[in-house]
Amino acid sequence: MNILAIESSCDETSAAVITNGKIGSNVVATQLIHAQYGGVVPELASRAHQQHILPVVDKALNDAKVAKKDLDAIAFTRGPGLLGALLVGTSFAKSMALGLNIPLIEINHMQAHVLAHFIDDPKPAFPFLCLTVSGGHTQIVKVSGPLEMEIIGETKDDAVGEAFDKTAKLLDLPYPGGPLIDRHAANGNPLAYPFPLPEMPGLDFSFSGIKTSFLYFLQKQVQLEPEFVAQNLDDICASIQYTLIDILLKKLKKAAREIGIREIAIAGGVSANSGLRRSIKELGEKLDWHVYIPAFEYCTDNAAMIAIAAHYKFLQNDFCDQTVSPMARMEF
Ligand code: ATP
Ligand code: MG
Ligand code: FE
Repeated sequence: MNILAIESSCDETSAAVITNGKIGSNVVATQLIHAQYGGVVPELASRAHQQHILPVVDKALNDAKVAKKDLDAIAFTRGPGLLGALLVGTSFAKSMALGLNIPLIEINHMQAHVLAHFIDDPKPAFPFLCLTVSGGHTQIVKVSGPLEMEIIGETKDDAVGEAFDKTAKLLDLPYPGGPLIDRHAANGNPLAYPFPLPEMPGLDFSFSGIKTSFLYFLQKQVQLEPEFVAQNLDDICASIQYTLIDILLKKLKKAAREIGIREIAIAGGVSANSGLRRSIKELGEKLDWHVYIPAFEYCTDNAAMIAIAAHYKFLQNDFCDQTVSPMARMEF
């Protein structure tokens, strides 16, 4: 059974082929055009998807050595994401499925981030908790089955990836700044500059206040010492990263305790962060958790995660028809 999967929700155009649950190819074209604007420009993202989608799909089929006539279904990201960007992948998938007369499978991008854990071993056992941390979302998800997920906590304002990227911007680091903060943090002292943690009840998160306190802190320091950022970049990045990870892990710890689950996973772009990967491993050892951390290539956006989600939907005969349209916001 061969499925072609397409991802186009933001600024990665990606296609993957999965054969009987095994990934045969995963091609990702990251749009570099946005760096000069300091963030993703939706209209430019749509245009870049249109340019990339055909060569990316072709390469995915070639790499997997699967011919179009041997495909059994086409899967695509229906949402959430940028509407114009989603529209490119959705229309492409619909046309191709119509042309080949094979079924279509719609995938929720956030569920796919979680299911990236089922691409390779070791796979988490159900039920498990997944901390999904990305550019647009911050969620604690209770996962009871491949397609059975419930959000038990989420951000009420900014996503943690956004907090990484926006603070990086304040530090004059180019977009996306998350990986650069990570790199500088590796050489800095995480306790150099303490920041107050937000007070958010229950299992929900808030990152807008912390972003503002970074801003005020930087403004004040730069007034005192104009070269402050340049001279202390590593310590600033380490302190910011430490604070953001602390917020995430405090809530995850609370969720694990309250729900009584010790199978713990992280997913999404920010799960590529080396500080988060290290801290959650240490916490897991202390609290006797089984911790699951995705391979780097499956953290940020990719079609392999769409393909594995499609594999499970195919097994349940969960198909959609040609009337389907993309959704910028999409529930599980
Ligand atoms: P969503 O999945 O919520 O729709 P998205 O698809 O844009 O959003 P992803 O591709 O999953 O998000 O993740 C991108 C985010 O991950 C960016 O905010 C980026 O800065 C962040 N990120 C990637 N690598 C790292 C890292 N090493 N440290 C911190 N943040 C990182
Ligand atoms: Mg991206
Ligand atoms: Fe994503």
